[in-house]
Amino acid sequence: MKDKAHIVVIGTGGTIAGRGASSVNTSDYACSVLSIDEVLSGIPQAHAIARVSAEQLMQIGSENFSTTHLLTLGKRIDTLLKQDDIDGIVVTHGTDTIDETAYFLHLTLKSSKPVVVVGSMRPPSSLSADGPLNLYNAILVAGSETSHGKGTLVVANDEIHSARDVVKTSTFKLESFRSPYGPLGYVVEGSPRYYRTPARRHTLSTQWSIDAIDELPEVGIVYAHGGIDAAVIDATAQSGVRGLIYAATGNGNVAAHVVGALQRARRRGVQIVRASRTGSGIVIRNAAQPDDEYDWLVVDDQVPQKARLLLMLSLGSEQRSADLQDAFYRY
Ligand code: ASP
Repeated sequence: MKDKAHIVVIGTGGTIAGRGASSVNTSDYACSVLSIDEVLSGIPQAHAIARVSAEQLMQIGSENFSTTHLLTLGKRIDTLLKQDDIDGIVVTHGTDTIDETAYFLHLTLKSSKPVVVVGSMRPPSSLSADGPLNLYNAILVAGSETSHGKGTLVVANDEIHSARDVVKTSTFKLESFRSPYGPLGYVVEGSPRYYRTPARRHTLSTQWSIDAIDELPEVGIVYAHGGIDAAVIDATAQSGVRGLIYAATGNGNVAAHVVGALQRARRRGVQIVRASRTGSGIVIRNAAQPDDEYDWLVVDDQVPQKARLLLMLSLGSEQRSADLQDAFYRY
């Protein structure tokens, strides 16, 4: 019989490591205060399913996750995955930007070993805390042969999501994590069951490797609304960004009074990407705006925060608009 899988759990903070004074208040609590050892001590059952070791890499709410944090985490995971005696990685993480960190890892790690990012909506001190079971399930998923080759995964509320698709959609619900095409599978009665695999390139089949990335160009996001001021676009374009994701209304519509500002930004050398603030769906090239004429890009179906990461990575290796556009269709 095979030995138990060796899973390294990396603590980075978040609500899963939080503590509140009241067990019935799930919003008023201190985030990122429990060490990863304390968090793991809440699930002694994990030792029956895996050989678990833990390390505290950072202790921050994920709303603070910068490019530097992404690179630090990615490089540490890369080092661990290269060790033959490690079978999988679990990252405990705040839920606010869990979808961004997971997507970054999904695109840059060079391994088929499972990497699972997990958080919780309620702190461990609350009634019906979701962290213990989420973490137990994440360790289970990371230790399963069936999770190999599926890219980075996000486990929450008994569901296994692909990092490419998952988005945090609610400020408080346990079923906050949604993928527009559904989860890849579920954790049922203590074992992962998969029903789908990611169709787009990830990990071993991407053009990026975390160990070759030491910095990334900055890309900004501008959130559209009917009364948007063109000055916001001008200010973003002048802030040193190499790209600007325009989180447009609907299917990528751009208010007539800001088209000029986006064109000005493009002339300054800033890549413009039409995305959508709706949270799901495709933006069609040359439909709502003449992208070829303006030399603008469109997302495929990537939400603005994931489009930003994808463009940052793409700009690090490609300069031609056609290649940058292609990345949105490939990943
Ligand atoms: N502010 C927290 C974070 O993202 C919220 C959470 O973990 O759910 O780190």
